[in-house]
Amino acid sequence: MDNCIFCKIAGKHIPSTFIYEDDDLIAFHDINPAAPIHFLIVPKQHISTLSDCDEGHAPLLGKMMLLAPKLAQEQGCAYSIDSDGRGAGGFKTLFNTGPDGGQEVYHLHLHVIGGPHPWRGQR
Ligand code: 5GP
Ligand code: ZN
Repeated sequence: MDNCIFCKIAGKHIPSTFIYEDDDLIAFHDINPAAPIHFLIVPKQHISTLSDCDEGHAPLLGKMMLLAPKLAQEQGCAYSIDSDGRGAGGFKTLFNTGPDGGQEVYHLHLHVIGGPHPWRGQR
């Protein structure tokens, strides 16, 4: 898609620092973070919204979801359980869909938002 910012980032037409890349996905820090840790997991393929996905996209969506905790670990917001059974750390995962879902960029992306108390951010 010619006018899509995330296609331009994925196609390396706009210089960006990726925190992850494989054949299907890229991940990079959000330009306007809502919390201390805020990155986006983005398919290289242009898909406008989650509502445009069908059964054929299930492996891609699964891959995006499973990448979230791996990158959260690397970025410093892993969820863990200590020896006393207490949970610590963690993050939010979020797809915004459509105007009422607050979507601004119409290229599918999964927000991963972490750091201390990420729910006190803007989202
Ligand atoms: P949405 O509201 O569509 O779910 O989220 C789009 C996100 O993309 C926003 O959090 C916004 O800050 C981020 N964003 C928009 N343009 C760029 C960009 O050019 N670079 C980066 N790194 N993030 C962007
Ligand atoms: Zn796109």
